[in-house]
Amino acid sequence: MDKNILQKLAENSEKYMQFETDRMITWCGMCGNFGVQNALKRALTLENISRNEVLFCYDIGCSGNGSDKIEGYTIHGLHGRVISLAAGAAIANSRIKVIAEAGDGATFSEGVNHLIHGVRNDYPIMFLHHNNQNYGLTTGQASACTIKGAKMNGAPYGVYEEPLNPLQIVLSLNPSFVARCFSGDVPHMTSVFQEALKHKGFAFVEVLQSCPTYNKETPEDWYRERVKFIEDKKDYDVKNIWDARKIVDDQEKEIYIGVLYRNEERENFLKCVQGRKGLETELVDEVERVVISPAERG
Ligand code: SF4
Ligand code: MG
Repeated sequence: MDKNILQKLAENSEKYMQFETDRMITWCGMCGNFGVQNALKRALTLENISRNEVLFCYDIGCSGNGSDKIEGYTIHGLHGRVISLAAGAAIANSRIKVIAEAGDGATFSEGVNHLIHGVRNDYPIMFLHHNNQNYGLTTGQASACTIKGAKMNGAPYGVYEEPLNPLQIVLSLNPSFVARCFSGDVPHMTSVFQEALKHKGFAFVEVLQSCPTYNKETPEDWYRERVKFIEDKKDYDVKNIWDARKIVDDQEKEIYIGVLYRNEERENFLKCVQGRKGLETELVDEVERVVISPAERG
């Protein structure tokens, strides 16, 4: 992170502190969630987004337990359902920034249907996929993203299946923004989150997240040896989806991080809904109390 950004954060420490809580932290020591939460608060501060202008939506899981570790409007929803929850909020009131967070279990098993339709509809939300390659909250069972051969709780002889490739799946859904970061690099994560916050449609951001307690196969050092910055790749065109699809195919040797694909020309869901065209109001402004009880209606 360059000096100007550090200075800007120092000058805006009060804005940063509005997201801090004194509630008890329940994550394990060295958990990647600390870095993600920190980067998110930094990005919001740098983008001058205040606490009352943002809604944080959390799925179930270790990442979901971030809901009581950040100050602001938070919803901790049902397992696998955070994208539909966040999309509803964003459609009801586009004046607020809606951020949804879920782990690899919730995103690519319980809620994969919501992910598919969230991306293809381009709902105006920022979505953080915390990929720590296991179900951490329930003590380390394999997820659809666990590396083949890993010995996990419930799979003592090793996982038989190949892991899904999350970004390859998302890139097949005509997305408008796809990025990847690494939980061990907070300054880089901050800059990617800033870009995602500015995006008008569905901003899918995967965080390769360390889980020192249960993911022994790909610990933090495993990622440090492999991650590379997309900015350093010559002739890479962030607007070319086939460049992105090619680069994300490798999940083991050279793992590129940064904004990998962006389509600013695509109109998000709200821009496409005919019934909302020309209206100045938001759905939340139009809510009326309707008496449905026969006794009250008289
Ligand atoms: Fe973090 Fe893993 Fe512990 Fe969950 S189990 S809090 S993801 S280190
Ligand atoms: Mg997980």
